[in-house]
Amino acid sequence: MSILHRADPEVAAIIDDERTRQIESLEMIASENYASAAVLEATGSVFTNKYAEGYPGKRYYAGNQHSDRLEQLAIDRAKQLFGAEHANVQPTSGAEANMAAYLAFANPGDTIMGMELSQGGHLTHGSPVNFSGRLYRFVPYTVDRETETIDMAEVRRLALEHRPRIIVSGATAYPRTIDFAAFAEIAREAGALLMADISHIAGLVAGGVHPSPVPCADIVTTTTHKTLRGPRGALALCKAEHAEALDRGVFPGTQGGPHLHSIAAKAVAFGEALRPEFKAYAAQVVRNAAVLAEELMRAGIRLVSGGTDNHLILVDCNSVGISGLKAQNALQGAGIITNRNTIPYDQRSAYVTSGLRLGTPALTSRGMKEDEMRRVAAWIIRVLKDPDGEGVRDAVRAEVAEFARAYPVPGITDAEPVA
Ligand code: PLP
Repeated sequence: MSILHRADPEVAAIIDDERTRQIESLEMIASENYASAAVLEATGSVFTNKYAEGYPGKRYYAGNQHSDRLEQLAIDRAKQLFGAEHANVQPTSGAEANMAAYLAFANPGDTIMGMELSQGGHLTHGSPVNFSGRLYRFVPYTVDRETETIDMAEVRRLALEHRPRIIVSGATAYPRTIDFAAFAEIAREAGALLMADISHIAGLVAGGVHPSPVPCADIVTTTTHKTLRGPRGALALCKAEHAEALDRGVFPGTQGGPHLHSIAAKAVAFGEALRPEFKAYAAQVVRNAAVLAEELMRAGIRLVSGGTDNHLILVDCNSVGISGLKAQNALQGAGIITNRNTIPYDQRSAYVTSGLRLGTPALTSRGMKEDEMRRVAAWIIRVLKDPDGEGVRDAVRAEVAEFARAYPVPGITDAEPVA
């Protein structure tokens, strides 16, 4: 019996149930992954106990000799991993990293450009219900109706018309390669700073299977828990000339004491991502998504933009005559965990949606490859084509649970994350 089971059996039982859920289901939410046992151990370490406001060598509390070593190690690894001039490893979440970046480089009321939320942008890229949309004047850019890829001509036109302080590139539900170099050229022409939010694709960038924005963007923000496979948290990178402003945007601008336990886990995750195996992992994530996309399209299911270049797929559920909400719920009943999402120019509300977002990062961490993707695609197709069929759902759920148990979950079973 673990210490937690003795100390608080109620919480321990809930954690046990979640562990079983993770082992028995197929996790296909594009923003989720399985952190390694080493990352989890660092997250649960004694650094939870320590306050360390400030930065290495300049703290506002005593007793930080080991905090300084830890944070410096995380910074050095992040810089090495992404080839960045400066790294701030303190942001506690992707939203907070973006808030710190806006605070550092724009004033309230300034114009910022970001991707239209209903077409793939993130809440923090200008939603009216988010701090971003309330404090700044966001001008959204969209995707082309035909190709469903970012309309770079429109980005340029809007940038020259509105002269934003910052242009945000990056997305939360965009299946195609983002041309950061083209964004950088437009930003230069318009006199704007380029910020790249690579939260979704950071692991692909680190693994060399998506172009990096680091050489051409002024500021890069990312979460650490998605394709990068670290702890929940975030990271901000920038050119040396912006280092001081960015650091002040994080602390004291938007947060107090850093979460050193998360920084310990980020250092571990960056160390893992620096190994050659991680490159193989990132490449497999992309290959798996491509096979999944091919199988779904062969079954007559329409994908936004006609496929994928990265770790995610956006299914147009209209092609099977159901909403995203219905698709998500039917798949959950079958043990396949996804999330509904709007698609470009969606006719349904953001709550119901016409889309379904599927991702391969977590399944790939369990060691699944192309053959497994074909089996997963077959289950998804069966459920989407008969979303009300309880028989189909029950049969698929049983098959999925047996199949899933055969692929150890890193951090839960003894398995190492798979390359
Ligand atoms: N930016 C992008 C592009 C994201 O996809 C997300 C999360 O999904 C975030 C920022 C926010 O990250 P967090 O949930 O850690 O605040």
